[in-house]
Amino acid sequence: MKLKFCRSSLVLSLLTAALCLQPAWPQALPTLGHGESISLGAERQLGDRIARELYRDPDYLEDPVLDEYIQRLWAPLVKAAAARGELSPELQERFAWRILLGRDRTVNAFALPGGYLGVHLGLIAVVTSDDELASVLAHEISHVTQRHIARSMDDQSKMTPWVIGSMILGVLAASKSAQGAQALIVGGQAAAMQSQLSYSRDMEREADRVGYGVLSDAGYDPRGFVTMFAKLQQAAGVNDNGAFPYLRSHPLTSERIADMQARQQLSGNLSGNSSTVTQDLTQSMLAARARVMSNGNVDALKAWTQDSKINSPQATPTQQVGALYAATLAHLQLRDSASAERSLQSLERRVQDSGSEPAIRVVRLLKAEMAARQERFGAVLSLLLPSPPGTALARPELIAVAQALARLPPQPMRNEVIGTLRELVQQIPQDAQAWNTLASLLAAQGMTLPALRAEGEAQMARMDWTGAVDRFRAAQDWARNNRLAAGEHIEASIVDTRLRQAQTLVREMQTQR
Ligand SMILES: [Zn+2]
Repeated sequence: MKLKFCRSSLVLSLLTAALCLQPAWPQALPTLGHGESISLGAERQLGDRIARELYRDPDYLEDPVLDEYIQRLWAPLVKAAAARGELSPELQERFAWRILLGRDRTVNAFALPGGYLGVHLGLIAVVTSDDELASVLAHEISHVTQRHIARSMDDQSKMTPWVIGSMILGVLAASKSAQGAQALIVGGQAAAMQSQLSYSRDMEREADRVGYGVLSDAGYDPRGFVTMFAKLQQAAGVNDNGAFPYLRSHPLTSERIADMQARQQLSGNLSGNSSTVTQDLTQSMLAARARVMSNGNVDALKAWTQDSKINSPQATPTQQVGALYAATLAHLQLRDSASAERSLQSLERRVQDSGSEPAIRVVRLLKAEMAARQERFGAVLSLLLPSPPGTALARPELIAVAQALARLPPQPMRNEVIGTLRELVQQIPQDAQAWNTLASLLAAQGMTLPALRAEGEAQMARMDWTGAVDRFRAAQDWARNNRLAAGEHIEASIVDTRLRQAQTLVREMQTQR
């Protein structure tokens, strides 16, 4: 039976799976539980299986700007958790530690088995400080480091990991912003499934306690936890339409809130400086990006272009800048170049005046995005190439420059950027978007064999083994039918090895199902 991550049919097929077909499962994987904890390896395997479906979900998003933002918040938390001894070297090594962004406007973040985390754009859109977003990530990383997933799976002793994985996917599908009666049906079933999968109250308290320490040690303002709680609490009061699925899996009990307030008082954070955490320009623009990208609906986009905050005297300068960023991006999505340019100019003026270099950079990246959409690829280069030349490019700039170079006539810089992208994927082989970008640049350069291999590597990174076999096989065929250049024999033998590895993974996947 094939699991499809499709909103409508998924949950029904899951129920069939959970209720009827379970005894017929092939015994390729041991049944979990019976009091023993699931091993790190088995949990990682389960996580891989879930992540593989998420990568294929149409809502899965690769956005270099937002990816970099989440990584920037995430890295210090991982470091702090390791330094505090919460995150053992073994766990750090064996788990994936990957964050997957979902283009969904519901407020949600979740830890998955094996060290995968999911973050919906709706969450990034609703927070007003890095500290708030980091507090959610700190809570979630603590569920992982405390092995809460393994511990709650022990209670599901009669289920195979396959069924648990399916149920987790079902709950995630149901937490999306699906509309209409179907959502209600799905919601009911999901609630029933979720009650079997959710963490215990003690685990939530532990994730709060550990997460609070991790957040502070990572250098964030721990008041982020409190303002995030306040935000969720307010939402719980006024909003019962399912827009905050995070609240369903993380009920804000008065106990959790009281614990957090006590922690604040102990650490003295409320005594002296009680001013609220201030929102900065960069965060405001990145939240605006998440807002616009989470909803491509024309009416929603039009609404962003007319946001009254842009010129409202009641709005703070930071809010105005966020609203202008959203308006510019929305104009772009609506393909209204003239309005997008006007809006960008006034955004640029205000951000320049602030003198904030990170904020100026976010606007520059938006400007390059606009140029790329208008097929002015030369402008992308002049905006993003570093001065002085030779300075390292950050990942969002590198991806944008490489994409532009693939569309421009051949020029010496192509080889330079190919080299930089190769360094990047060597360091981070799971960077699927970098592999894809490298593939298109290599193809533009007429380097077919390495281009096909890079396409295969991109599929490997997204754990699409079948897709990888397809690409590696195409590379192998090409190598057989063409005269190879000097360095290409090595590439061809790498392709052979990678093809065999991908084929093994396909066979393993088939025996597991
Ligand atoms: Zn939690």
